Amino acid sequence: MEERDVVVIGAGLLGCFAARALTQWEIGVLVLESREDVCTGISRANSGIVYTGCDTAPGTLKTRLCVRASRNAPALCRELGVRFSRCGSLMVSFGPRADGVLRKKLAQGIENGVSGLRLLPAEEVYALEPNLAPGLTGALYAPDTGTVDPWELGIAAFENARANGADFRFRQTVTAMRRRADGYELDTPAGSYAARVVINCAGLHADSIRELVYPPAYRIFPTAADYLVLDDTVSGFVRHVIFHEPEEKGKGLTLIPTVDGNLLAGPTRRPWNGREDWAAGSEGIAQLRALCETVTPGLPLSGVIRSFAALRPNPFAVRQEGGAWVPEQKSIPGFLILEEQGLLSLLGIKTPGLTCAAELGKTVAERAVRLLGDPRRNPDFTPSRTAPPAVRGMEEARRAALVREQTEYGEIVCRCREVSRGEISEAIRRGAVTLDGVKRRTGTGMGRCQGGRCMQRILEMLSAAQGVPPWRIDKDGAESPVLCSAEESGEDEMELPIARRQDGYGSF
Ligand SMILES: Cc1cc2nc3c(=O)[nH]c(=O)nc-3n(C[C@H](O)[C@H](O)[C@H](O)COP(=O)(O)OP(=O)(O)OC[C@H]3O[C@@H](n4cnc5c(N)ncnc54)[C@H](O)[C@@H]3O)c2cc1C
Repeated sequence: MEERDVVVIGAGLLGCFAARALTQWEIGVLVLESREDVCTGISRANSGIVYTGCDTAPGTLKTRLCVRASRNAPALCRELGVRFSRCGSLMVSFGPRADGVLRKKLAQGIENGVSGLRLLPAEEVYALEPNLAPGLTGALYAPDTGTVDPWELGIAAFENARANGADFRFRQTVTAMRRRADGYELDTPAGSYAARVVINCAGLHADSIRELVYPPAYRIFPTAADYLVLDDTVSGFVRHVIFHEPEEKGKGLTLIPTVDGNLLAGPTRRPWNGREDWAAGSEGIAQLRALCETVTPGLPLSGVIRSFAALRPNPFAVRQEGGAWVPEQKSIPGFLILEEQGLLSLLGIKTPGLTCAAELGKTVAERAVRLLGDPRRNPDFTPSRTAPPAVRGMEEARRAALVREQTEYGEIVCRCREVSRGEISEAIRRGAVTLDGVKRRTGTGMGRCQGGRCMQRILEMLSAAQGVPPWRIDKDGAESPVLCSAEESGEDEMELPIARRQDGYGSF
């Protein structure tokens, strides 16, 4: 059995940032992750907004961390080589009920210490965002709201944690846990481990992990959300994050200008079909399209290139009733961090979990080192990480020099997003093992053709790197191949979805 000081369960944003924070001390840190890569759970599908802290109740841990995280975001992103856009946000209102909400948020934000908040009259809002629908009554302007690419942030934290000594093991689902005198033993199908402290960052499964050793107290009851992705033809249609506060009860629209220059619309709120059901719902998509037509009627919905779903991990206190565990009426609004004899569980961390990931990581790491009896600081800890080169948008002379040095950077594989072969090789070198692993690191397949032109070449690169045939390469997660093998299926005649032609590459 391998022994470590701390085992972190889960390599989403929270697990990666917890691991990074832990490596500031001289302790052994192991991260066990079910999947083949980081940020494949809740962290892969969200709005990517860095909130300021005006949406949450004063005096709570959530608010304190959010306000601090918002202030630290530019420095953190610089340190980790992550793009950050401080685009600001406008919470827009079309009537008296929403106006009241805006006034309440303004007062709350001021009390929370958020700076620069202002209520703007309609004329000023239209001057900033002329594409908003007629009939606006005002907006709450928050200049410090920002956006990041959630994958880029999580991957950067992972790379930095790994460079500082954290040991990440993928495809290792924790299936059992036992208390022992000085910590816990954990089993995965690939091995057993022991640790004095366990940090449970298992996202949607954090309640089940805790229940491997403790009776139920809190459970996660997810709800789902849908998003639309618009391509860069709509770039600049809105320049701020737009939070639409609807006049009637219900969920309004959020429009997010991403750091890549395209737009996201979402998220809806709907019941969930099962913990791992990530399919976008047609009703949600229709609802988003209708909301876009109401809030930004000129938005060309022909620019929609994809939809996706997200899952919110709503935590509820539970009680036993007639042999079943039933939730209390209302979910827990704050950040829930349970500390039970060396098990630290982050339960149901919803929005603004991405904003606060570094702060939450720091919080649990500090608690863990206290439990370990204040070990020595790691004198070799390096907080910074160098981002891989990206040719898109690179200054001409730098790009030419890079291509002279490494010709792979001169070969464009993904034309929609202008991603070079060199970037894909580097992504694979840094840990991408699936098509989506490459996509999340480089942006391949995220443009208008959605991978139609580049997928085959990326499959070949992944297959060469792993020494397996291309039909063994997954899109995202186990058993999600994009190709099938005629030989292995036993069919005499079988059309491969991608036909390799003699003269080059086939198309879909
Ligand atoms: C719709 C939506 C929009 C959001 N928008 C924003 C936003 O704009 N701004 C913001 O600040 N926050 C936002 N959030 C919140 C933010 O995305 C989450 O708080 C954050 O991603 C949670 O990360 P996590 O690491 O807890 O979970 P995850 O990313 O799900 O990571 C958990 C990991 O644990 C692994 N795991 C599970 N079980 C096991 C096991 N038994 N053994 C080993 N590994 C296991 C999983 O595979 C997974 O990789 C949003 C959330 C949602 C749902």
